[in-house]
Amino acid sequence: MKQVVRMIAAAAAVATMGLHAGAHAADEYPGSKPVSAVVPFAAGGPTDKVSRDLVQIMSKHLGTTIVIENLGGAGGTIGAKKVSQASPNGHTVLIHHIGMSTAPALYRNLGFDPLKDFEFVGEIADVPMVLVGNKSLPPNNFKDLLPYIKANASKLSLANAGIGSASHLCGLLFMSAIQTELTTVPYKGTAPALTDILGGQVNLMCDQTTNIAGQLKAGSLKPYAAMQSRRVEAFKDIPTAAEQGLPGMEVKIWHAMYAPKGTPKAVIDKLSAALQKSVTDPTFRAKMAELGAEAVPAQRATPDSLKTFLASEINKWTPVIKKAGVYAD
Ligand code: ASP
Repeated sequence: MKQVVRMIAAAAAVATMGLHAGAHAADEYPGSKPVSAVVPFAAGGPTDKVSRDLVQIMSKHLGTTIVIENLGGAGGTIGAKKVSQASPNGHTVLIHHIGMSTAPALYRNLGFDPLKDFEFVGEIADVPMVLVGNKSLPPNNFKDLLPYIKANASKLSLANAGIGSASHLCGLLFMSAIQTELTTVPYKGTAPALTDILGGQVNLMCDQTTNIAGQLKAGSLKPYAAMQSRRVEAFKDIPTAAEQGLPGMEVKIWHAMYAPKGTPKAVIDKLSAALQKSVTDPTFRAKMAELGAEAVPAQRATPDSLKTFLASEINKWTPVIKKAGVYAD
């Protein structure tokens, strides 16, 4: 009996030591070691732009350098899976968008559970989408584009950043709304897709304003419609799809930060506090606004708010995707 009591006491002591070591590590976090922020899309694209603007400011608030690691492919699911399996020590985080909520319905073998395999840091920014086309496409506005698409569907292509990306979701809703299938061309991000739109290798894309703000201002793309119910503040001259006869197009792309499951709460709290300071930082807010995006208020840059929102987005998009009958695999 004594032996058992001693063993229990020893096990309890080891567990306490472990707890102390964990608490100690969290106390010292982040230390001087950098944090790697995985962006699951190509460099130079919309998620990359939001992320780079964020980490520039957040590094200062966190007290260590946050380095972006681009890991594109499969609509963001490759990078997300990698982070779900990373060491939960606060030195690897994921910056992802709405794709976190659409992937479970699109991928039967996703390899991670967005709600169970991550800790939640908070939301970052909302980004609107605009349907754009190559300059040489004949239609000059959305009203003319719709019959043109119907008449030329077999010849027209629609770029996206892979199944589960924002451009894929928006394209899917658009094709379903106009009841016309186009050939879709997947890329590792809309940065490389945009190069091909500009070069005329693909014709159309539904993209986030964070990726195309420069081209919209320079007039090097044809903007057909804002894919939301109101005009985009920074691009007021682009009419919405609804204004031009196609109601119901509402795709708002939200971005958020996650850490691997098991990252200590004290570490998550530090990350989230730094995120809250960053999203309310006037420099970050101004940078987002310039790109047509909107940094979230501090109360959305919190773990609880993100977890609840992600669950609601999964519930919102799963039936839409199931109804569309689209699968990635
Ligand atoms: N977020 C993707 C990117 O950064 C684009 C997309 O999801 O459509 O390229």
